[in-house]
Amino acid sequence: MSDELIPHWIDGKPDERTPQHSGPVFDPASGAQRARVAFASVDDVDRAVAAARAAWPAWRDTPITRRTQLMFRFRQALEAQREEIARIVTGEHGKTHADALGEVQRGLEVVEFACGIGQLLKGDVSHQVSSGVDLAAVREPLGVCAGITPFNFPAMVPLWMFPIAIACGNTFVLKPSEKDPSTANRLAELFAGAGLPGGVLEVVHGDRVAVDRLLEHPDVAAVSFVGSTPIARHVQETGTRHAKRVQALGGAKNHMVVLPDADLDLAADAAVSAAYGSAGERCMAISVLVAVGDVAERLLPRIEQRIGGLRVGSGEDPNADMGPLITGEHRDRVASYIDRGVEEGAALVCDGRGLRVAGHEDGFFVGPTLFDGVRPEMSIYRDEIFGPVLCVVREASFESAVGLVNRNPWANGTAIFTNDGGAARRFQREIEVGMVGVNVPIPVPLGFYSFGGWKSSLFGDHSIYGPEGVHFYTRPKVITTRWPDPAHRGVDLGFPRSG
Ligand code: NAD
Repeated sequence: MSDELIPHWIDGKPDERTPQHSGPVFDPASGAQRARVAFASVDDVDRAVAAARAAWPAWRDTPITRRTQLMFRFRQALEAQREEIARIVTGEHGKTHADALGEVQRGLEVVEFACGIGQLLKGDVSHQVSSGVDLAAVREPLGVCAGITPFNFPAMVPLWMFPIAIACGNTFVLKPSEKDPSTANRLAELFAGAGLPGGVLEVVHGDRVAVDRLLEHPDVAAVSFVGSTPIARHVQETGTRHAKRVQALGGAKNHMVVLPDADLDLAADAAVSAAYGSAGERCMAISVLVAVGDVAERLLPRIEQRIGGLRVGSGEDPNADMGPLITGEHRDRVASYIDRGVEEGAALVCDGRGLRVAGHEDGFFVGPTLFDGVRPEMSIYRDEIFGPVLCVVREASFESAVGLVNRNPWANGTAIFTNDGGAARRFQREIEVGMVGVNVPIPVPLGFYSFGGWKSSLFGDHSIYGPEGVHFYTRPKVITTRWPDPAHRGVDLGFPRSG
C-alpha cells in the first residue's frame, strides 16, 4: 500500500499545502492502493479560481500567434510522452495499454484542432452596411472556465475541454475524477513545460465539495461536465441557477441494430469490440444488440465464439484484450446486475461473474457477459451498467427496432449493420440519437467535428469540442463603426436603419 499524495496543481505547480482530506487511488488489476489524492476544500477551490482569475487578463491579451505556438508545443510534448501518459492511464484506470494509447490519440486530435485557433476565431466584417458604417462580429473568451471529468477517459475527456478553452483565451480549472487523478497533473505539467503561464490551467482534485464550489463560484463563467446522467442533471441545474454557461454530457445505453442482410462476421467483430473494449466502461460502448428478424440465430454463435477467444488480464499484460473494472465496488455493482438479469428471466449465455485472473486474484475483474432474450422492462436493459455486459433484444422488424431505440431515454450513440443502403439511410434519418454509425459500432467524431448525444445524454445547448467547443468557450460581440463624415451631421430620433 502506498500513501504517496497526488496534490492539486495550482498556479503552475504542485500545491504544497497538506490537504485536510484525501482519498485512496487503487490499482484495479491488483486491488492494492497505489496512492492517495488530495480532496479540495472550498478554500482550495477558491485559491485555484483566484489564480485562474488573476491570470486571465494577460492570457486573454496574449496574441493569437503566441497562443498558437504554445498549442503546437503542447501537442509536441503530448506526442513525445504518449507512451508514458498511456502507462499512467493503465495503472490507475486498468484499461489495456493499447486502449490507453488510443485514448491519448483521440485527445491529441482535439489539441491539433485547437492549434488552428487563428482560423477558428476569425470574425465577420461587412463594409458599408449603411452610409459610412461598417459592422464587425468577433468572438471573445468568457473568463475562467471549469471542467469536471469522469474516470473512464482520464486523458481524452480533459483534452476535449481545456485545449480549446485555453486556445480561445480563457483560463481553466479542471476537476478530474478522484478515481484516476494522476493523468490530469501530468497533462498540466506538460503544458507548463511547453510554456503555459501559471494560473492558465489549474487542477483541483476531489469530490462533490469541489464540484459544488465550482458550480457556485461567482468567478467561474462556464462549466463543461462529462459523467453520469444524474450528476450531469445536477451540474446543469446548479450551474445555470448560478448564471453559468453549462454543457453537461451524461450516460448512455447504446444500441447496435443488426439487420438480417448484414455481413455477420463484421457485425460480430464490431459487437464484441464495442461491448467489451475497455471492459464496457465507455460512454459509446454498445450495451444493447437489437437483432432483427431471424438474425440472432446466425449472429449469436459468432459472438459467443469470439467471446471465448478474449483474454482478460491486467491492462499492463500485452496479451490482455480486456482489463479490470475501476473499483471493487463497481465490480460488485456490475455482478449484481448480472444476478438481477438472471432473476428477471433473461438467458445468460456467457457469465463473467467470479472471474479469477491468475496472479491478480484481488483485481476488480468481471469477464465478458452476454444475455439473450432481454426485454425492455428488465433492469439490465433500463439501467446503464457500465461494464462488460451485452444484452441482446430480439425485434421482428426494422420499424420495431427503430421504435425501441427511439423510446430509450438515453441517446448518445447508435449503429446499424446492414448491406442495404436504403435501410441505412432511413435509419440515419429516423433515429433520435446524437451520433450514428453505419457499419461503424463506435461513431466518435474526429476532433474537427463535435461530440454529443441527445435527450438524457446531454444537457445544455452545446456539444463538446470541435466547432461547438469554440462556440461554447466564446461569446459574440458585434461592433458597428462610423467614422465622422461631415455629410452625415445632424440629430435623427428615428430607430437606426440601413441606407
Ligand atoms: P460520475 O458522474 O460518477 O462522476 C463524474 C464527475 O462528477 C467526477 O469528477 C466526480 O468526482 C463528480 N461527481 C460524482 N458524484 C458527484 C456528486 N454527487 N456531486 C457532484 N459531483 C460529483 O461518472 P463516472 O462514474 O466518473 O463516469 C462514468 C459515467 O460517465 C458513465 O455514466 C458514462 O456514460 C459517463 N460518460 C459520458 C460521456 C459522454 O460523452 N456522454 C463520456 C464519458 C463518460
